[in-house]
Amino acid sequence: MATPTSATDTAAASTAASVASVPAASLDPDLFDGQGPSKGLRETTLLSRDARLAGRPRLCSDCGLCDSQLHAQMASACVFVRNRGEEIEQRLFGRNRRDGDELRFGVYQAMHAARMRQPLPHAQWSGIVTSLAARMLERGEVEGVITAASMPGTRFAPRPILARTPAEVLASAGNKPCLSPNLALFDAVRAAGLRRVAFIGTGCQVHMVRASEARLQADLGLERLDIIGIPCSDNVTYPDLTYFLEQVSRSPATIVHYEFMQDYSLHMRHEDGQVERLNFIDFPMDRLEGIFPSACLSCFDYANTLADLTVGYMGSPLGWQWLLVRTDRGQALLDLLAPDLEFGALPSAGDRRRGMPRYLQMLHQPPGKPPRPIRRLIAWLQRHRGPRGLEFARAIIEMKSFRNLDYVRQHFARFEPRIVPGHVYRTLAAYGEDYAAIFQRPLAPAAVGPAPPVTEPADPSIPSAPRPPEY
Ligand SMILES: Cc1cc2nc3c(=O)[nH]c(=O)nc-3n(C[C@H](O)[C@H](O)[C@H](O)COP(=O)(O)OP(=O)(O)OC[C@H]3O[C@@H](n4cnc5c(N)ncnc54)[C@H](O)[C@@H]3O)c2cc1C
Ligand code: SF4
Ligand code: SF4
Repeated sequence: MATPTSATDTAAASTAASVASVPAASLDPDLFDGQGPSKGLRETTLLSRDARLAGRPRLCSDCGLCDSQLHAQMASACVFVRNRGEEIEQRLFGRNRRDGDELRFGVYQAMHAARMRQPLPHAQWSGIVTSLAARMLERGEVEGVITAASMPGTRFAPRPILARTPAEVLASAGNKPCLSPNLALFDAVRAAGLRRVAFIGTGCQVHMVRASEARLQADLGLERLDIIGIPCSDNVTYPDLTYFLEQVSRSPATIVHYEFMQDYSLHMRHEDGQVERLNFIDFPMDRLEGIFPSACLSCFDYANTLADLTVGYMGSPLGWQWLLVRTDRGQALLDLLAPDLEFGALPSAGDRRRGMPRYLQMLHQPPGKPPRPIRRLIAWLQRHRGPRGLEFARAIIEMKSFRNLDYVRQHFARFEPRIVPGHVYRTLAAYGEDYAAIFQRPLAPAAVGPAPPVTEPADPSIPSAPRPPEY
C-alpha cells in the first residue's frame, strides 16, 4: 500500500507566496452577510459570543484562529473563505493526490492498522494520539502540545490547552466531539516562547494551521511544528451534542464514551460499563434535522489530509486504529511509538459502488423511515454485505462528499468554486451519469474538465450480494 512521496522546494516557494496575507476588505462581500456565521455558533457557550463572532464569514467552524493574534490571517488561511488544500499539498508533498485511494484519503506514504499493546484508559480508541504526543514531550522532541481537554464539570465540552507535560496530554485523551477553538492556543505558544510544538486537531483546523505556517514561523520563531490529525465529520456545538445524545440514548447523562462504529451502529458506553447500541438506520433523523453547523456540511477534508500523521479508525477492522503516514516527519513520529504498537491487516470487502446510485436518490428525495422489520434487515445487510474495512472508509467519504456538495449547492452556491476542491469531483466522477440523471445537472463544473476513471477494481469477494445496502 505504500506510495513514495517527496517535497520540492520549488513548490514550497510558490505556495508560500500564494498564501500571503489577503486583506479581508478585498474579499467578496457575499462571504460576510453582516449576521456572522450561519447555523451553529450562536449557540456556542464557551466564551462571550458576540465579540468572538464579529467579522467572521458566514461559514465558520470556530477553529480558534480568529480568537488569536493570528486573526489577520483569516482571509488567507480560512478554508471557508478559500480552500487552499491543493496548494498546500504541493508544498507539503510536492504533488497532488494520485487517482485511486489518494483521492479519498489524501496523499500518504503508508497506511496501517495499529493499536496500543496496552490501551490507554479513557482514550477514544487505544490512545495512539495522546500516547504519541506524550512520548514527544518525554523525549524533548517538542516543548508543548496543543490538544483538547474537557471543560471542568463536563465530559464532552472541549477546552483547548497547551500541554507541557506528558501527564497533561494524556489527561486530554478521548473525544470531545464538539467544535473546539484549538488555534487560539498559538497565543499561549507565543507567550511561553516555545519553538517546538505539536498540534492535534481536525481537518479544518489543520488547514488553517498549514495555511498560516509561514506566519507562525516568522512571528513566533517556530522551528518545528508537528501535526497529528484526526479524521472528522459532522461535528456539532456542545448544546447540539447534548440534544443529540438526548435523542439517541435512554440515559444520556451517564454516557462516558461513544463512537460511530464500522459495524453501522452507534456504541454508547455508560458509567456502569454497559454498552448501548443504536443502528444507524434507526436514528431519529426527523429530530436531528438542523443540528450540524453549516461549516461541517461544507467541509471536504474528512480524512485530515494535510497532517503529518492521521490517526482515525474507520478504514480498520473493529478494535483497530487506522493510520495514514503522510510526510517523512509523520513516519518519524510513528517510529517513536512503534515499540508500543501492535500492527494488523487492513482488509477491504463489499462494493460501495453498487449502493451509491440508491444513496443519491435518497439524498435527492429522502424516503420515510422503513418499518422496523425492514430496518432490521437493512442493518443486517449493512453489517454483513455492506462495505467493510477500507471499502467502508471509501463509502463514507464518498457519501459525505456528495451530501456536502449538495448542501453547498443548495445553500452557498456562489461559494462552490472557492470551497469545493477539484479532487471532490474527481473522486465522485464514477457516479457522474447517475448524479446528472438524478439531480438534473452535471456533477462537475465545466472548468474542472473531464474526470479520470476510478482505478480500483470491484471487490470480487462478494460477487452477487442480493441488494445494494442502503447505508
Ligand atoms: C468530532 C470528531 C469526529 C470524528 N470522526 C471520525 C470519523 O468519522 N472517522 C474516524 O476514523 N475518526 C474520527 N474521529 C477520530 C477518532 O474518533 C479518534 O479521535 C482518533 O482515532 C484518535 O483516537 P485515540 O484513541 O488515538 O485518541 P486519544 O488518545 O483518545 O486522543 C484523542 C485526541 O483527540 C483530541 N480531540 C478530542 N476532541 C477534539 C475536538 N473536538 N477537536 C480537536 N481535537 C479533539 C484530543 O485533544 C486528543 O488529543 C473523530 C474525532 C472527532 C473529535
Ligand atoms: S473557521 Fe477559523 S479562520 Fe475561519 S472564520 Fe472561523 S475562526 Fe476564523
Ligand atoms: S466536520 Fe470539517 S469543518 Fe466540521 S469540525 Fe470537522 S473538520 Fe472541521
